[in-house]
Amino acid sequence: MDNVFQVAINTLNRAGKIGQIDERVMQILQVPKRIQQFHIPLKLDSGAFKVFPAYRVHYCDALGPCRNGTRIRPNLTLDEIKALGLFMTIKHCAAAIPAGGAKGGIKADPAELTQNDMERLVRAFVRALSPKGPWADVPGADIGTGEQAMAWMLDEYEQITGNHCPAAINDKPPILGGSVGGEAATGRGVFITLKAAAEDLQMVISKSSAVVQGFGQVGTALAELLDAEGAKIVAVSDVFGGIFNADGIDIPALKTHVAETGKVVGFHGTEPVTNEELFALDCDIIVPAAVQSVIHKDNAADVKAKLIVEGANGPVTTEADEILAEKGVTIVPDVVANSGGATVCHFERTQGLSDQYWDLPTVNTMLEKRILAAYRDAAETARVYEGATLRIGTWISALKKIEKAMKLRGWV
Ligand code: NAD
Repeated sequence: MDNVFQVAINTLNRAGKIGQIDERVMQILQVPKRIQQFHIPLKLDSGAFKVFPAYRVHYCDALGPCRNGTRIRPNLTLDEIKALGLFMTIKHCAAAIPAGGAKGGIKADPAELTQNDMERLVRAFVRALSPKGPWADVPGADIGTGEQAMAWMLDEYEQITGNHCPAAINDKPPILGGSVGGEAATGRGVFITLKAAAEDLQMVISKSSAVVQGFGQVGTALAELLDAEGAKIVAVSDVFGGIFNADGIDIPALKTHVAETGKVVGFHGTEPVTNEELFALDCDIIVPAAVQSVIHKDNAADVKAKLIVEGANGPVTTEADEILAEKGVTIVPDVVANSGGATVCHFERTQGLSDQYWDLPTVNTMLEKRILAAYRDAAETARVYEGATLRIGTWISALKKIEKAMKLRGWV
């Protein structure tokens, strides 16, 4: 599998070249500003003792404090965290959020930890972070962490400082100062950009067919909105495999099936399909909303869809990106398509700092406005620079902002 950090650096360098970004800015962005690498020893409830590797990467803070994402998974690598930190830097720029990009994680399997183990693990993670706080580094959730983990992180931060400070941690429950609409924000953002791109391609959603890989937080929210808009979702998959029905899958009923069985396979009226076969199916739209590097040089040529909207981070490798561009497939890149979560995290911080909390229609209206602006900016930049795709357009636009900030700060 392609190294996701290398994929991110390849995109960075292509955009830097086409956008003629200052050489010194590009030099700074080849590596993270700060990498914290530490180990958390833990006496587990089972009686076992383990030492867990942990990371926090502050990729770039030229535009503001570092923010977001804490991933807990067994195969976590530092390169993955570096790539996600760089993506987050670009994502914040694309959504016009004055923040830097960060990502962190713990190499551990949440399935092997009790709730109590998990609480002690994430509290230890927060204790080890330095610097931290609303104007330095604000951790959020990612794979393996959710509202409960972020509530523990907030409590630990507040115990350390002795002050209540909801803006110090993102993705916490609304009762502790989180934002409403946060959970569905990324899927909703994917849907908003999908609709905008379909419109540009003169594709009618209610007459189009779609394939969705991943039926988790992002894939489910997106599939529900797409289904409600009248699209025919012909295939859905998760880590255990996929399901196919050329006439369309009943998404609300599938959601119930997944709640009961824990997987999409076995859903009535569908045939099994593998995660590899998924991308070669006859359809208009593909939404990879699971993991990185799933569309690669060996399967990109088989893609029949005209539009790919990246719910996951880095689902298309550099080589596949080139193959798909040659085939005329439009890709709405991750840094725009899945920026809904980061955008609502920004709203969460704004609410926490001002002590004024918004209702769901306000959050959703503001999300739509911001994410559409990000998509239009990417499309406009791609039009201006010869050879630029939507992905390169997004990165050029972001790099121009970072370049300006670095020059004004006197870094280059
Ligand atoms: P999730 O854990 O809720 O769901 C992931 C889904 O993908 C599950 O259905 C899982 O079974 C499936 N999956 C996992 N490995 C797979 C594999 N190898 N092949 C096929 N399916 C697989 O995660 P999520 O929050 O929905 O995130 C999905 C993706 O979107 C991730 O790449 C994440 O980084 C990205 N993302 C999420 C958010 C967010 O707000 N949740 C924001 C930005 C980006």
